[in-house]
Amino acid sequence: MTVALAIVEGDRIETAIEAVIGAGRYAAARHWVPATSGNFSVRIDASRIAITRSGADKGALTRSDVLIQTLDAPLLPGSSAEAALHIRQYTDNPDIGAIFHAHGPYSTVIGHAHLADGAVHLNGWELQKALLGVTSHEATVEVPVFANDQNIDALSHRVAARLGEPVSAQQIRAPGYLLAGHGLYAWGKTPRDATRHLEALEVLFHQMIAFRSYQP
Ligand SMILES: [Zn+2]
Repeated sequence: MTVALAIVEGDRIETAIEAVIGAGRYAAARHWVPATSGNFSVRIDASRIAITRSGADKGALTRSDVLIQTLDAPLLPGSSAEAALHIRQYTDNPDIGAIFHAHGPYSTVIGHAHLADGAVHLNGWELQKALLGVTSHEATVEVPVFANDQNIDALSHRVAARLGEPVSAQQIRAPGYLLAGHGLYAWGKTPRDATRHLEALEVLFHQMIAFRSYQP
């Protein structure tokens, strides 16, 4: 490898690690990753991602908390089991550049409440326009909901199968899904997109819950 190529390679890894650390800090400041929960990943290139290790405080991540994982290799020592969910999505969708997973209170509660429906539907909210492909509050946006599962391989197959199916007519699928009673996965082409989607969905679920509990 030439020196110039080595510098580009180092920069790519560096940028991805910094984006992971920044995302963790951002989510922790909003109380969406309590008690070391959540995990954050950013694509380096076609075959590698930078991803948080298991058990790290996401508000105080250091470089040693971020692993460089090759997509078609076994999980590295210290990986979160949920890294398999990230890897499957990056492998299936080359357009995804970042995946952020948080345990925000409203995402966690609303997924639990809608498990039997298999989805939460957003309609009538201005903030839904922060989601990729949504241009109107009148659109109906589907956020898939899956039962939580400690068998991450089985869960990852269920998620991949559902995300591979077309969404029903007149609906747009959100760049995110819920694990009931567990939390939210959101993604985007860039870390900035994934952050916007994570925040928009958590706040939309907060608005829905507030609306339902409000008694004029
Ligand atoms: Zn989780």
